Amino acid sequence: MGREMTRSKQLYEQARKLIPGGVNSPVRAFRKVGGSPIYFREASGSRCTDVDGNCYVDFCQSWGPLILGHAHPEVVEAVRAAAARGLSYGACHEGEIELAGLILEAFPEHDRVRAVSSGTEAVMTALRLARGYTGRQLVLKFDGGYHGHYDGMLVKAGSGLVTEAIADSRGVPGALAETTLVAPLDDETAVRKIFEAHGQNIAAIIIEPLPANNGLLVQRREFLAFLREICREFDALLIFDEVISGFRLKFGGYGQMVGVGADIVVLGKIVGGGMPVGAVSGRAEIMDMLAPLGDVYQAGTLSGNPVGVAAGIATLKALRHNQPYERLQALGRCFVGRLAEAGLPAVQAVQAGSILWLYLDAVTPPRRADAISSRAMARFNRLYWPLLHSGFYLPPSPYEVFFLSTAHTEGDVEDLADAVQRNLSECEAP
Ligand SMILES: *Cc1c(COP(=O)(O)O)cnc(C)c1O
Repeated sequence: MGREMTRSKQLYEQARKLIPGGVNSPVRAFRKVGGSPIYFREASGSRCTDVDGNCYVDFCQSWGPLILGHAHPEVVEAVRAAAARGLSYGACHEGEIELAGLILEAFPEHDRVRAVSSGTEAVMTALRLARGYTGRQLVLKFDGGYHGHYDGMLVKAGSGLVTEAIADSRGVPGALAETTLVAPLDDETAVRKIFEAHGQNIAAIIIEPLPANNGLLVQRREFLAFLREICREFDALLIFDEVISGFRLKFGGYGQMVGVGADIVVLGKIVGGGMPVGAVSGRAEIMDMLAPLGDVYQAGTLSGNPVGVAAGIATLKALRHNQPYERLQALGRCFVGRLAEAGLPAVQAVQAGSILWLYLDAVTPPRRADAISSRAMARFNRLYWPLLHSGFYLPPSPYEVFFLSTAHTEGDVEDLADAVQRNLSECEAP
């Protein structure tokens, strides 16, 4: 354990006097894993460097947008060129059409897509649309599903809140929280009960079809197909929040991989390639209810921002052209295989393509939030700093997943697996 982190510590002290908790998004504060955050100076490909000059292999990759790795040359060049032509117009430009075209090419079941500036904003828009379209009030979400920090969604939300041990956020009007119903994942009976009691007033189900914000809780295909069916039965909309999974496992959505179609798909992260872009996609009859055509209002000064859109276009074009998905899947498998080979007790990795979740317990990995083993979480926390000192930057919470990018190599993932093995004794409680 010998990395000098003096400058990071100094900066954090400074930041705490100016920024609430020193951070602009709570998980960055390292509360769960203890200690204080490291401050990034620069990043390239799979590597990041902190302000003390330490280099890490980065398995957080800005929480998912950077499927091509940090500062990918084509994305950086697209951003540079767009910036030189003006940072924002607040008016129409060709890039908006190109990005919409790329997204709809990947979601051929949809007709329209509107760009916004974050995943949260996209969720907000999707929910307002669903309520406007159905004329109903209630939305059903799942325990452990994270859909950004929109008021109505901060009910049993994901990792940030679990990490901070806040069951609910204060400041959310009770009347709004009451419009959100919460069911456990992987439980058809619970969902049916809720629909039998409230079905006539449920506008939509919103779910991450591949829940990846509270561990990686891979759902049974049958469960997702059941949600599709029950929405049909009760004339509610199915919203897939694919902010993480969109363009992550294929050029398109996770729903397509499992053959379950949603009425509205919410996108973010990868569609902005590291810039603040989100999007809502759906059929014309739903999407055309948005202003100016319809009376569901939604707007944004920086929506469709030319620089953000340029990063998204460059990222999606590279994905379409290179189709890196098989290679990314193989990289993930390489990590899982290396760990399995080592035959370590109570060390497992859950994988979905280029998303990995280290689950440090011997019990079967969970499919629902309340089945996550606290032992696994505690063990991860104890392993966190030894791994950081070994040169691996992981998301600083046991509930968060690792993201692989096209910049990572087999060597990178094997080194991480070996470091887990080497430091495993640190997992045990002192
Ligand atoms: C990250 C995320 C969001 C929120 O996106 P922001 O850009 O952080 O507002 C919403 N839903 C899911 C599934 C996410 O992973």
